[in-house]
This record gives sequence, structure tokens and C-alpha cells, in this order.
Amino acid sequence: MVSDRCRQQLQAHVDQCITSPSPKDVSPECDILPQPPATRGANAFSVLMSSHSENEAWKEAAVVENKSFRATKSGRRKAPFYKVMTGMPIAVDAFRYGAIPGITAYFLTHAHSDHYTNLSSNWKAGPIYCSEGTANLIVHMLSVDRKWVHALPMNTPIIVPNTGGVTVTLIEANHCPGSSLFLFEGKQTVNAGDSTFKSAFVGSSRTFRYLHCGDFRASPQHVLHPALKGKRIDTVYLDTTYLNPRYTFPSQSQTISACADLAKKLVTGEHVAFTGGEKGMLHTMEKWFPADAKIETDRATSKASNMLVVVGTYSIGKERIVKAIAQALNTKVYCDSRKAAILRCQQDPDLHTLLTKDPYTAGVHLVPLSVITSDRIKEYTERWKGHWDKAVGFRPTGWTYTPSAGADSSPSVASVIAKQPHRQFGPMHLRPMRNSTATYQLFGVPYSEHSSFFELTCFSLSLDWTRIIATVNVGSEASRVKISAWISRWEAERKRRGGGIVPYRSPEYW
Ligand SMILES: [Zn+2]
Ligand SMILES: [Zn+2]
Repeated sequence: MVSDRCRQQLQAHVDQCITSPSPKDVSPECDILPQPPATRGANAFSVLMSSHSENEAWKEAAVVENKSFRATKSGRRKAPFYKVMTGMPIAVDAFRYGAIPGITAYFLTHAHSDHYTNLSSNWKAGPIYCSEGTANLIVHMLSVDRKWVHALPMNTPIIVPNTGGVTVTLIEANHCPGSSLFLFEGKQTVNAGDSTFKSAFVGSSRTFRYLHCGDFRASPQHVLHPALKGKRIDTVYLDTTYLNPRYTFPSQSQTISACADLAKKLVTGEHVAFTGGEKGMLHTMEKWFPADAKIETDRATSKASNMLVVVGTYSIGKERIVKAIAQALNTKVYCDSRKAAILRCQQDPDLHTLLTKDPYTAGVHLVPLSVITSDRIKEYTERWKGHWDKAVGFRPTGWTYTPSAGADSSPSVASVIAKQPHRQFGPMHLRPMRNSTATYQLFGVPYSEHSSFFELTCFSLSLDWTRIIATVNVGSEASRVKISAWISRWEAERKRRGGGIVPYRSPEYW
């Protein structure tokens, strides 16, 4: 069972990742004292020492992460060790700490608020490296001075200036637009940062390889990427948002198709039966709506086009659903000018082509997530003076899906990867929310831009790594213990399997 506190923490990350500037960092990362190559076979003492050091480092991190903690004369918050790549003058998603001692390169994985905290027009601590999409977004949204922002190409190793020759390769993260994984490769040349923990490998001739996942939704494409396939990764910084067997949801493409199909069926007035729900009951529209609603009738008539499709989103992310629905309905997408400007920062010509400034020619409207409630959607639809007489609202979050009763809360790793979840997922699995009416139908959509537990397991079994450092839900020791138990089980299963990529259904999802 997941405790309420744990659920709140998870929800906090999913929300903060995307909404307001967040004071509370619930996604710290960690790296310290990498195990020397000899410890791959790991004698008990070295493992003990390594885990002891890591535990101490986490404790130090907990102190400096404490909200009220101000250690430096300038009031600058100290950066915990896990924000700095071990032995390299490189920090990732660490803008809230200002100018970190010894850091010459500041990386940003993506433009969600919990990752760029404190980044503004006042930034002058050093060069910022990110993807081109993220660069456009932070200049537009945060007014960061262009002179600091260095957009890097995807999939191309680039030498990072003033870092002792470290190269970085950006890999699409499958999170929000512009999000990327960073693969750093190079020697350890400096103990940068505020941490008292120092690496013994600084000055050694060994090349280290770190994969920072930022926020991501793991897919076979990641482990098949030429920069990663067959490579040993010393440290993986892993987005562990949904590292709990409870969190299982369909792939993005399954969900996207389901939404597009459902929208088309509803707009054209086709009958839809919904499955699932308590005790596997079959719900039909008649069961959910009043008998006189006549929602199945207006098939392919001019009246049928009277339905507006409204999709709720946070600031950036989930645009793929909007695009798919608009394409299925052969219509345009409308949103307010502020949102449109943000969408234009993204490198997505298909989306740009769909956008229109005329709300009346757009059958799909993109709105804040808060609009997708029965009261607000009514209010929103009525705003257009009778142009639409009904609406369907989609509310995509990672939280909609309820796992079937009796699901094993502690399955073996082998059994997790043996069974691909959600083999079938279609429009009938999207269930109308309780307060839906015949006129205003609301659907929760199990759409996540973070990896499911199944995907995290497949990813970690398919990649060759020495250490995994969890980056989310590591605020409490109890949570860290649970996370490290899964990591140990992955390690054991990976050895038992003898490596290799976990079989997948498509390069896009396991
Ligand atoms: Zn995040
Ligand atoms: Zn994010």
C-alpha cells in the first residue's frame, strides 16, 4: 500500500514539475564516491563502505536541503552533492543554489518549474546548456539573458567548454517538449560543489560515464540509442516518480489513440460502451447519463459537429494528445495567446500548423487543467455564445488509472517483465468521470510523461550500469530504503538474466 504521505509527495512532484515555481524540491539526486571498477565483483567491505558513505552524503544533503538552512554569508543555499556530477565541474537542474563553487557548466534537463527554480533574468552564475526547445522556453518564459543560454543539438557528442574535456550527448527524454537525457563522458578533474564528500578518482586517467535522466518516460528507444547501447554507465540518475508496482498505466501511444478514437466517436455520435470500473462492470453511456439524453443519435449530421473537445494541460507537456485528437477530427486547435506563444517556442511544426487564433474554427481547445471540471467546462463552453451546445473534456494525468484489485504489491522482478501490461487499451477503457452529464462529458486519461513501474524495471534491466541514484521521492530515509531495495533487486535480476534488452512490443514502448 502507498501511504498518503508518499502519495502526496508523488503528486507534489507531478504537479510541481509542471506548475508553479516550487520551493519544495522533492526530486533530489545523488552521486558520490563511485565504486572503483574492482567493486563490480564487490567485496562485502567495499560495499558496506560505499553504502555508508552514500548514507552519510544523503544525511548531509537532507541538512542543506532543509528549507530554513542558509549556510553561506551571501545567504546562498548550499548545493547537495547529488546536484554536481562527481569529479566534474558540471551541475544539473541546480539553479536554485546560484553560483556553485567550481562549477563552470550548468545544465537544464527541461523547462518544468521544479528543475529551473531560481532561473530568471538575473541569472549570471555561468553558462546554461540545454536543448534548443528548452532554450527557447526559458528565454521566453523566464527572460533569461540569451548570452548565457547555449542550445545543444540532439544525439551529437559535444565537448563542454571549461570542463576538462567532458563530452555531453543529449537524448530525447520522452517527457515534455524539449526534455532531454544527458550522457556525460569524461575524466574526473575537480571536486566541485559545496559537499564535504570528495571523490578519490579526481586526477585519475579513467573515463567516467554518467547518464542523467532528468524527468523521462523510459522506452526501448533509450536503451537502443547508439550512445548508450552496449556501453557501461557508471552512474544512472533515475527519475523514480512511479517506482512502486501500484503504478501501472498504458503506453502514451495507446492512450493517445484511445483519446483520438473516443473524441471521434463522441463528435460523430457513435455509440460507445465503457468497460472497467468496479468489479469489471460494463458501463454504457445509458448507465452514466439520463435515459433521455439521446447522446447516440446525431451521427454524422451537422448537429454532430456541435460538440467542442476541450483538453486540459499544465504549462507544457501532453501536446501529443491534443495533436492526435485534432488530426482525427480534421480540425484546428485554439488556445489563448499566452499559451500559443509557449507552444510556438517548441520545435513542433505539426502542432504549429494546427494552431489557429480563431476559436470558432477550432474543434479542439487547449485550456488549463482546472477548466476540466463540470462547472468550469460549462462556463467555458457558454463563453462562445451558443456556438457549441455540448462539450467533451479530457483530463490527462498519470493518476487516473486504478490498478485491478488484488494486484501483487511486491512482485518478483522476473514476473514484472514477464507480463506486458495493458495489451489492450482503447476508447472503451476511458471512463466518464462521475460528474459527467450528457451535455458535458469529462474523461480522466491515464497519460503519464514519467515511466511506469514496469517501464522503470525494463529500462534498468536493459541498461549496463554500476550504480543507480534515485532522483525523486528521496526526501525521507524510509522512502530511500524502499527505492534501494528495488534497485538491488534489479541488479540481481540483471545478473541472473546475463544482460540484454528486455523484449518490447515496439521501439516506442515495452
Ligand atoms: Zn520534475
Ligand atoms: Zn518534468
